[in-house]
Formats: sequence, structure tokens, C-alpha cells
Amino acid sequence: MLEVEATGARLGLTDTHAHLSYIAERLGRRAIDELAAAYADAGAMVLDPGVDYDDYPVRKAAFGDLGFVRLAAGIWPDAESIGDAEARVAALEAHLRDPACVAVGECGLDYHWMHGGPSEQAELFSAQAELAVRLGKPLIVHSRDAHRDTLAIVGPVASRIPVIIHCFGYDEEAAREYAAAGCYVSFAGNLSYKKSGALRAACAAVPGERLLLETDSPYMCPEPRRGKDATPLDIGRTYALAAALRGSSIDDLAELVARNAAALFG
Ligand SMILES: [Zn+2]
Repeated sequence: MLEVEATGARLGLTDTHAHLSYIAERLGRRAIDELAAAYADAGAMVLDPGVDYDDYPVRKAAFGDLGFVRLAAGIWPDAESIGDAEARVAALEAHLRDPACVAVGECGLDYHWMHGGPSEQAELFSAQAELAVRLGKPLIVHSRDAHRDTLAIVGPVASRIPVIIHCFGYDEEAAREYAAAGCYVSFAGNLSYKKSGALRAACAAVPGERLLLETDSPYMCPEPRRGKDATPLDIGRTYALAAALRGSSIDDLAELVARNAAALFG
């Protein structure tokens, strides 16, 4: 196995959130071919989430044949989607009914960019949460500067379907609240950033059976490559850091996250 320099982590580690189409746009199809080689015998998966009501068929055509890739479909709270929520959620449902679509998302609340208002965002998000419950598929949640309102929506849902808080960006107390509600908490490369002390405390506190790791690539490249385009091949540093924070070995953590992800996404 190839080693990620200086971390002891091997390549081909479970990544529960990577935007493969953005990676291909920025780095070329060659980056996807490199992933295919690294993940071929790794026994780990990469989950490619959707962001728009109609991006699923394109992503399925591009990545659906790769055995390590799992696909989800969801609508991110951008202005166009909020303005046309009902029709777009209805169109999304057709894609979600595809057996190859393993989860609903990403969807959620973003009060940093704040398109529409909180109630419009909640409407688009809740409609997708209801769809996830109806179809019995996990819900992948984006939440930025919106912890309380996110918890209010996912709390009642998390007892019925798995809920994943992706690229978790709050503190230890919030992480404990999500875990207590039954949610999975997924940490990305920003875990390594200088000012992310609260995130690191949160990562140490999440119960093992609720922990996931992701890149959110091409964003959130871990240090020392912060600001560069990331791919799932950059996740080794996040595993190494999370393992250190949790007093675990990288191999045990890799096994734990692979098991959690397999239970969620098959
Ligand atoms: Zn994302």
C-alpha cells in the first residue's frame, strides 16, 4: 500500500463526502483515474453528493460505474433552488428513486451565504428531509451558522433515518447534541486548520459509532495544503489527526469509519 507521506495513513480511505464532478472540472478526468487506481482494492468508498435537482444523471454517467463510488442526490440552498423549491424537490424525487442513489443530500441550511431567508431555506430542507423519511434513505446535511435551526429540523428525523451532519463546523457541545439526537457527525480537512480548536475538541468527543470522516473535496484541503484543490487522496492527514485526537490508531479508525459508512451507504 502507498503511504501518505509522514502520516502513516494508506491511500484509499473512506471519504463520505467528495464532489467528484468539481474535482474532474478543476483537475481533469485524470484525477478520477488516480482515485480509481488508489481505491481499486482498498475496500473503502467515496460518496459523491448532489447539490442541484438535476445533477444526478450527469454524475451517474460519469462515476456510476466506479465500484468504490456511492451517489447521493440533493438540493443545496442556493437562490434559484429556493425560488423554485416545490418543482425542484418533485424533480429530485425521481432521481432519489433510482436504487443506485443511496442517500438524500447534500441539503440543509446556510446562514453564512443566506440565500432567501431562514424560513425559505427551512422549507427546501424540510421537504428533502421528508422525502428521505418517505424513501427510507439517509439524509446528508449541510449546516453553516445555523446549528439551532438545523437541530430543530433533523432532531425528529434522526430517530427514523440516519442523518449525517457533513463538514461539521460547530463545537463540542453541538457535536454532543447531534450525536445524542442520533445523528452522525462527519469531519473534514478544516479539522487541521490553525483556528479549529473547537472542531478538534468535538472530534475527540463524538462516540465512535457516530463518527465519519470526509474531504468535502475539492474544498477544505487539509494542512499543509490548505487552499489547494483537494481530492479523496488528501484524506490521510485528516485520518491521522483524528486518530491522534481520539487516541486511536489510523488503521482502527479507518476500520471504524469504513464500517459506519458501509452501514449507511451499502
Ligand atoms: Zn459538499
